[in-house]
Parts: sequence; C-alpha cells; structure tokens
Amino acid sequence: MSLIYFLRSFFMTSTPFRIIFLGSQGAGKGTQAERLSCLLGIPAISTGALCREEASKETPMGRTIGIYLQAGRLLPSTLISCLMQERLGREDVKQGWIVDGYPRDQMQLTGLLAFTHPTHVIILELSDEESIARLAGRRVCSNCKTGYHILYMPPRIFGHCDRCDGLLVRRDDDTPEAIERRLAIYHAETEPIITLFEKMGIVFRVNGAHSVEEIGEEIAVIFDASVCHL
Ligand SMILES: [Zn+2]
Repeated sequence: MSLIYFLRSFFMTSTPFRIIFLGSQGAGKGTQAERLSCLLGIPAISTGALCREEASKETPMGRTIGIYLQAGRLLPSTLISCLMQERLGREDVKQGWIVDGYPRDQMQLTGLLAFTHPTHVIILELSDEESIARLAGRRVCSNCKTGYHILYMPPRIFGHCDRCDGLLVRRDDDTPEAIERRLAIYHAETEPIITLFEKMGIVFRVNGAHSVEEIGEEIAVIFDASVCHL
C-alpha cells in the first residue's frame, strides 16, 4: 500500500472507494480487481468466486447456485443481489470495496443502488473475438482456485498450480457455448447500464487488450496511486 493510501485510511476523512469493474468476459477484471485491492488496501470481491463459494455449501441456496454454474448459466439477478448485499454489509468492507462482474443488468443495478452507490466504474473494453480467444486459455487450480492463463499468466510448471501444485483445469462455465451466451447477455443487458453509470459521471474506460501491466498502470493513474506489483 502506498503512503498516501495509508494516511488516507488512517485519517478516514474522505468517502471510501466503492469500485465496480465491468467489461467483456476475459478482459482480466478479476486480475485487475486483485491488483487494485493490493494498491488501495480494500477487499476485492469476485461475483463468480462468491457464487462458487456459496455453491460449495450444503445449503438449499448453495445447491441451487451449483445447478446454474454446472449448466454454464448466469444466476437470476435477485439471487445475485441477495448474495452481494449480504457480502457488502460485512465489517471488512467498511473502508471501501472493489467488485467485479456486478451489477450485470438493470435489475441488479436497481438492487445495488437500493443499499449503496459506487464511486468509480472501470470498464475494461475488449472485442468479442479477443474475448473468446482469451477465455479459451483460462485455467483455474482445482484445489486452491488460483486463476491462470496459458498465454498471459502461465504457471511455472505446465498444468500445475504455483501455490499448491494442484491440477489446473478449465472452468465448467468456460465452454465455447457458455462463452458465446455470456457475451450476448453482456451486450444486451450490461452495456445499457454502463450508459446509466456514464450519466452519473463515474465511468473510466480502459483498453482491455493491453497487457496486464499496462492496464494496471492505467488504472493506478485513475486513483492517482503508484503501481502495485503482485
Ligand atoms: Zn492451487
């Protein structure tokens, strides 16, 4: 954490950052959210990880979510909003938060604005072709869930996790059919809410086709902070 953000969090004089990452699948929202989390010292919450965590629980809600994830389908907006409202009400996000992949549509946006207001919406822009190419190389550790990419973020040993040596696998929802479906939904349902955020004057657009490092630097400039090296 940089000095300026240490002092900021120490005195707590300004509004906490409430940051949303949006963009096509594969633009690196999760990676950049993690980097910004390190930079600003506030938690990054991944909608996908939150859903997968819930799905691993032996509860009626967990089982319902598991069925959607296995089918590569998006969860109903009411369910996502419910999960997110509970998460953003916890103690660890009182000084700010970063969320990636939420809100995804008008209904989720209405749900979000009912309990909080974001201060920044960062859009990682990527063409559909680039998005599909990137998702095809995405892998996740079957044990600790750390994310990798065979081209952009390869593990040190092929097919194995750097952290725990677990086997790297393709996520259930990264099949070509599921990817096409998610891109269509992004254009139809998420792009209109970006227009609404633009009217609020809180949108920052970054070229998602740049390297992870370059994107990180461009985002750091938005927050007037030095770059974090994870
Ligand atoms: Zn691992």
